[in-house]
Amino acid sequence: MIVADKKPIQEIIETVKHCEKILVLGCNECVTVCEAGGKKEVGILSSALRMYFLNQGKEMKIDEITLERQCDHEYLDEIRDVADQYDAIVSLACGVGVQFTAEKYPSMPVYPGVNTCFLGATEKRGLWTERCQACGSCILATTGGICPVSRCAKRVMNGPCGGSSKGKCEISKDVDCAWQLIIDRLKAIGRLEDYEKVQPIKDWSTDRAGGPRRVVREDVQL
Ligand code: SF4
Ligand code: SF4
Repeated sequence: MIVADKKPIQEIIETVKHCEKILVLGCNECVTVCEAGGKKEVGILSSALRMYFLNQGKEMKIDEITLERQCDHEYLDEIRDVADQYDAIVSLACGVGVQFTAEKYPSMPVYPGVNTCFLGATEKRGLWTERCQACGSCILATTGGICPVSRCAKRVMNGPCGGSSKGKCEISKDVDCAWQLIIDRLKAIGRLEDYEKVQPIKDWSTDRAGGPRRVVREDVQL
C-alpha cells in the first residue's frame, strides 16, 4: 500500500488560514490502513482545526467527507454538488489523490493534509516500512522475494557491499542489510544458486528516471 504520515497541524493551519470554508476530504484506502487520512483522521484534524480557529476568534466552517478513493473519477464525482461551497479542500489522501482531486476540480485549491512516504507494509500497529519503489521491472524472482531497490541503501544489485556487518547495513545498526536478508532467504528456500549468478545490469528505463510513466492496457479499456 501507499504509506503516508500526518502533516504537522501548524503547516495545515498556515495553508488554510486565509479560508472561511474548507472541506477536509479523507480516503478509505491506503491512508486509512496507515492511520493517516481515513475517516477517523478526518474527524481528528477537523476538530483540532475548529478548536484552533475558535480560539483565534476566526469563523471557519469545516466540513468532513471521506470518499472510497480519491484516485478514481467515480468516487470524486460524489462531491461534485458540494465542492463549490468551499474555499479549499484539504485532502488527506496520498499525493496521487490530492492531484487527482485538483484535476477533477480545476478551480478549487486542493492542499495536502498528509506527507506521502513510500510503498510499504504494516509490520505492526504503528510501524510501516518500505518494500517497493515501483521500479517498473520487478526482479524479486531472483532475489528471494526481497527487494534490493527499496531495501538496500545503495540499490546494490550484486551485494552485499563492504559496509555490511553482522547482518546490518552501514547506515544504521537498526537497519538490516538487504543483501544479508536475500542470502538468508535464498538459503531457506534452497535457491542459493540464484545468489551465485552475477545479476545483469538492471534495466532502469522503466524506473522514475525516465520521466512520468504510464500503464496502457488496451484489453481492459472501454
Ligand atoms: S524490484 Fe522494483 S517492482 Fe520489484 S519490489 Fe523492488 S522496486 Fe518494487
Ligand atoms: S550494507 Fe547491505 S543494505 Fe547497506 S548498502 Fe551495503 S549491501 Fe546495501
